[in-house]
Amino acid sequence: MKDTPPAASPPPRRLEEAGAAVGETARQLTRVGLGDHLCLIYERFEEQVAALVPFVRTGLERGEQCVYLVDEHTAEEVAAVLRESGVDVEAEGERGALVFQSTREAYLRTGRFVPEEMLAYLRELERQALEAGFTGLRIMGEMTWALGAEPEGEQLIRYETLLTGFFPNSKVVAICQYHRSRFPPEIIRDVMRTHPLVIYGNEVHGNLFYERPELMLGKETAALRVEWMLAQLRRVRADERELVELGMRLGQQAEENARLYEEASEAVRIRDDFLSVASHELKTPLTPLHLRLQSLKREMESGPVACQHRERVIRVVESAEAQLRKLAALVDDLLDVSRLTEGKLPLTWEDVELGEVVREVMGRFAQQAAKMDCELELVVEGPVVGRWDRLRLDQVMTNLLSNAMKYGAGHPVRVRVEGDEERGVLVVKDEGIGIAPEHLKRIFGKFERAVSGRNYGGLGLGLYITQQIVQALGGSIQVESEPGRGSTFRVELPLRPPES
Ligand code: ADP
Repeated sequence: MKDTPPAASPPPRRLEEAGAAVGETARQLTRVGLGDHLCLIYERFEEQVAALVPFVRTGLERGEQCVYLVDEHTAEEVAAVLRESGVDVEAEGERGALVFQSTREAYLRTGRFVPEEMLAYLRELERQALEAGFTGLRIMGEMTWALGAEPEGEQLIRYETLLTGFFPNSKVVAICQYHRSRFPPEIIRDVMRTHPLVIYGNEVHGNLFYERPELMLGKETAALRVEWMLAQLRRVRADERELVELGMRLGQQAEENARLYEEASEAVRIRDDFLSVASHELKTPLTPLHLRLQSLKREMESGPVACQHRERVIRVVESAEAQLRKLAALVDDLLDVSRLTEGKLPLTWEDVELGEVVREVMGRFAQQAAKMDCELELVVEGPVVGRWDRLRLDQVMTNLLSNAMKYGAGHPVRVRVEGDEERGVLVVKDEGIGIAPEHLKRIFGKFERAVSGRNYGGLGLGLYITQQIVQALGGSIQVESEPGRGSTFRVELPLRPPES
């Protein structure tokens, strides 16, 4: 057969150029295994790379011996591509798992191409591979060798046809690579008729044009051809039917998903409505209760009523007030959440000195910190004045500090305030239980907690509200943490309100 221009595929380029194609072909090639016989119809080196890299890598992973028959490219060029994709070419070569051979050593061993001899040689290679302990033999052959004087096109096709009988009962899988425009169309046509699987355009295709060997080997009769044609019709119809069924199943699945989504949304809406109603209802009796307790305390302290147990009653009232404050804080959180859900977080913008707010909150927590054996440390780098909402900033600091004390009891909590011309920064660092990496994102969500309710009380709302406030002020909040070593929360706030 004569070598027909155009020229050979361009010299190998880097692996990245084959890019996504490698991934897609690789995915499809995982379904290919021992006993399969494929051809690759290509024109560019990238198409060869996209098939050869995953083909060889999968073979090595599966413990098969990979034999690459070079002709168009050199062994070194192919090895370079494999090396670049992470294959340890030297080590695999040393243990005999990756072998490069020239076509002279394979197809033209006897000087002439004789299909039966080549088939016998393949059987021998398979036997040797299995004997050496490999699970099978994987061959990739550059077929450009056939562009020379030998073999006649007919011999080549006879060989491919014989292979079709050989593969299904073997522990061999092979890809024969054919350059589409360098081979005459008659050869490519017959190559398409002799390979059950075709890699073309970076896809592995079940080959509709594949014919049974009897048809190819000149034993064609009208009856055989009719049988083949009818079988193809049935096959196409069966594939179509499968696709339609798949489409219907997907449709049903989509409907089911939409229904579930609807149900879930409804459940969330009911929960949010309930939260809104419940938090308002809970809030209502708190204020009068607070006032009653205060006046009771005043009466006890200064009233004329003689009371034997005055001191004890005052202590009980104080403790009731503390419990009431906690209850009020929880209800406030719930109220905030329902406001946030409705998209209403009213802000009062004013000039605020960040250090002052932080100092005030820390002062409020001093007694509690001492009780919890948390030493509090504050470093403020100069005044940091910005336009913010004072009460909301107070809430941010309160949440971060109370968490640091709750999850870091018995350890110091260090707070730092700093700023520049653009922003103010607040850092709260504890040395407590820390947070596992998989929870770091989640803890800013509504009701999300990374601890068990049995060990630590809480609704899982503090960080959610904190992040919402910080974002409403145009800022951001980040956390760094390591389990057992503590957590650092860092809030950054622009000095001026965001444009919107
Ligand atoms: P709550 O503390 O009520 O559970 P938060 O929204 O304030 O709710 O925090 C959410 C979760 O994040 C907590 O349940 C806890 O698992 C984790 N977390 C927050 N702050 C800290 C911290 N300083 N150290 C360790 N874990 C923390």
